[in-house]
Amino acid sequence: MDIQFLGTGAGQPSKVRNVSSLALKLLDEINEVWLFDCGEGTQNRILETTIRPRKISKIFITHLHGDHIFGLPGFLSSRAFQANEEQTDLDIYGPQGIKSFVLTSLRVSGSRLPYRIHFHEFDQDSLGKILETDKFTVYAEELDHTIFCVGYRVMQKDLEGTLDAERLKAAGVPFGPLFGKIKNGQDVVLEDGTEIKAADYISAPRPGKIITILGDTRKTNASVRLAVNADVLVHESTYGKGDEKIARNHGHSTNMQAAQVAAEAGAKRLLLNHISARFLSKDISQLKKDAATVFENVHVVKDLEEVEL
Ligand SMILES: [Zn+2]
Repeated sequence: MDIQFLGTGAGQPSKVRNVSSLALKLLDEINEVWLFDCGEGTQNRILETTIRPRKISKIFITHLHGDHIFGLPGFLSSRAFQANEEQTDLDIYGPQGIKSFVLTSLRVSGSRLPYRIHFHEFDQDSLGKILETDKFTVYAEELDHTIFCVGYRVMQKDLEGTLDAERLKAAGVPFGPLFGKIKNGQDVVLEDGTEIKAADYISAPRPGKIITILGDTRKTNASVRLAVNADVLVHESTYGKGDEKIARNHGHSTNMQAAQVAAEAGAKRLLLNHISARFLSKDISQLKKDAATVFENVHVVKDLEEVEL
């Protein structure tokens, strides 16, 4: 599982940072990629990665500001042009209005898609658990921005323990149906009378990962709730230390506030994105240094950077 950042800039593209989008790559887990936000030019960024658009099965939108959604019509249209590839349906989750934006763009541009889009729109009153599959649960909660905006908490379900086949073989268990029984937790007795206790050969279940991806927001308790014990928190840092007042006026956060959220939530790791073009590379190292005084495991991400979880 890893996250690849496709756009890490705030508001408008710059030469080094495109507008918001990131891919949560779940290829080993479910052979899918989930996209979070889709700013203009996201499809061009995807071309620079190994991500195949067809693998993108779900798109989660945090809010309807242009720098988070203007890439959708282009991406969705290009996704249709994958020759000789099976066309797979797509789910889009986002605030009320996202369906009308997408369908209007496709209609007026005469675009026809050879696959189906299933829209899952929500508003203030229909948040909470927005998706549950056999391997993942996704929650959304309202943040504090200038328009309705949410953050997402992606929770992987606990992973089953694995069978230690080598040790079973060594204990004299013949490969075959007995392995299946033991894997299902059943104790067995071998022909020679040896008792094999399943629990001795199955490792303990491993806790699933928690990934928190926030939209634009002022510092708010909702961010902390979404990030409780998260393995990774992706938080905007539109402003730097000392800019708290201007951040508040514009519905955004500073690096220091993002670090406070990570610390209060007990998150393990903080990745800062949504970085203003005003920041030059020396400012970026300062952003990190300042934030690290509050929360040590912090990193300012770049476009196309891949972070393993
Ligand atoms: Zn915004």
